[in-house]
Amino acid sequence: MAVAIYRFARDLRLDDHAGLSAASAHGDIAPVLIVDRELEERLRSSPRRAAYFCGAVAALDAALRERGSALIVRRGEAAAELARLAGELGAVAIAWSASYDRAGIAAGTDLQAAIEERGARAIVVHDSPAIPPEDSTAARSSAGDGYKAFVPFYDVWRELEPGSFEAPLLLSFMPAAVRSEPLPQPADFGSSDPVADAGAPRSRKKLETFLRGPALQYAFAINVPADDLTSHLSADLTFGTIAARTVVRETRNRMDDPFLLSEERASLRLFARALAMRDFFLQLSWYNPLTSDSALQEKMREFPFLQSHPHLDDWREGRTGFPLVDAGMRQLRATGWMHPRVRAIAASFLCFDLGVDWRVGMAEWDRYLIEDDPALSVGNWQWIAGAGADLAAYPRIYNPYKQARRFDPGGSYARKWIAELAHGPAGGLNEMRQGSAQIELPLGGAERYPRPVVDHDRAARDFLARYQEFVTPAGGRRSSR
Ligand SMILES: Cc1cc2nc3c(=O)[nH]c(=O)nc-3n(C[C@H](O)[C@H](O)[C@H](O)COP(=O)(O)OP(=O)(O)OC[C@H]3O[C@@H](n4cnc5c(N)ncnc54)[C@H](O)[C@@H]3O)c2cc1C
Repeated sequence: MAVAIYRFARDLRLDDHAGLSAASAHGDIAPVLIVDRELEERLRSSPRRAAYFCGAVAALDAALRERGSALIVRRGEAAAELARLAGELGAVAIAWSASYDRAGIAAGTDLQAAIEERGARAIVVHDSPAIPPEDSTAARSSAGDGYKAFVPFYDVWRELEPGSFEAPLLLSFMPAAVRSEPLPQPADFGSSDPVADAGAPRSRKKLETFLRGPALQYAFAINVPADDLTSHLSADLTFGTIAARTVVRETRNRMDDPFLLSEERASLRLFARALAMRDFFLQLSWYNPLTSDSALQEKMREFPFLQSHPHLDDWREGRTGFPLVDAGMRQLRATGWMHPRVRAIAASFLCFDLGVDWRVGMAEWDRYLIEDDPALSVGNWQWIAGAGADLAAYPRIYNPYKQARRFDPGGSYARKWIAELAHGPAGGLNEMRQGSAQIELPLGGAERYPRPVVDHDRAARDFLARYQEFVTPAGGRRSSR
């Protein structure tokens, strides 16, 4: 039987897998993981990410062993290692799934050229999005290079059916007779965290539990960070321990339940819309890879965001004196995740209250996030900074006081993550902060929660003045700059 190599990366499962399905058309699959310099760098940047990745890889290897196979691990430069393996195994094809950020796209193109030069067949598939970029683009009446605005994308996306590759038992894997290096461990990437409990069975269970209950209240969950009831599927989707297409399909199936209340169905629709947002940013980066480090909006490419600020470290460490911002940053440091609503508020604070470059914020979060999706990170950061796909005439500057009153009115989220506030007075936390009343630590503790480091109204006005100076009323860039 012919052999086809499948190179796993951010698709660490066997189920509903476009890449494995494509590889299996060419022969028995040799399942391979290459730890190359790029992967190592991504894992070294966040210790929790490394621990999560290692857990997901271990689970994948266990699933392969149940089927008489095993992951073949190699360390080194991808093209050379894959070519060597192809020679050892007599493989007729090498398949992998596409990346969506600039560096990943370029590495994929180089790899494809190197493999084809050596006479092997390279197969690249879209596995990460629920709907591949070409499908949403092809569904458009006018030909083009993807969507730069979410609403028209969503109108098309919600009418498309994700592909289905739900038959892992039909896949045939090579027996575990090939030399392999040991599975990666967190310490290989400088992480002292234990291997995380991750992998396809866990992701599947998480989705089922979510769709049975919390998903029906998603419209509330997205606005109540204290309850922590959004899906928490971002890391699972990042490392592909569950397919986005599975999540979309199961969510749509759940919507068909005739016994749902209309508000429960609306919640499920909102959750599906969040998944569409993920596909939107993946296609945005796929068609516009330069946005990985440069603004999508031409007028914002040279905008003079600051590279530093006297209170930048306060933002990083959750000491700005704005409880919702600080709680978010502390949640991120403590867990590798931040509630979606709070992400927008904390990012807006950096870009507008401090006037600091979105790239600085993105790099900071990258040190803590478990997720490893540069295309999603950059798309969201640019959106918040008024430099990306949100085409509003003016940047949307969040007022952190109003946001706190709206999304954490009792201060429960702030108290959960800010130790200095944990035993503060019940209720009224946000009003107290707005009045700059100092909150004392109980029992006379030495540390105090800081006063707000900036005057929000003044900072927002200053930013808008700089923006108006830079951008013309018609939305272009002033030529004198
Ligand atoms: C400034 C900023 C930076 C962000 N950086 C990242 C990032 O690096 N990686 C990342 O996966 N998400 C990022 N997000 C999007 C979103 O905040 C997270 O996906 C979400 O917090 C993950 O929690 P959840 O899984 O409970 O999401 P849920 O609300 O349960 O949503 C389900 C899934 O939909 C997808 N999704 C939801 N919202 C978005 C969105 N705005 N953009 C893209 N996908 C979305 C995610 O895959 C998420 O897991 C960022 C948002 C902002 C505002």
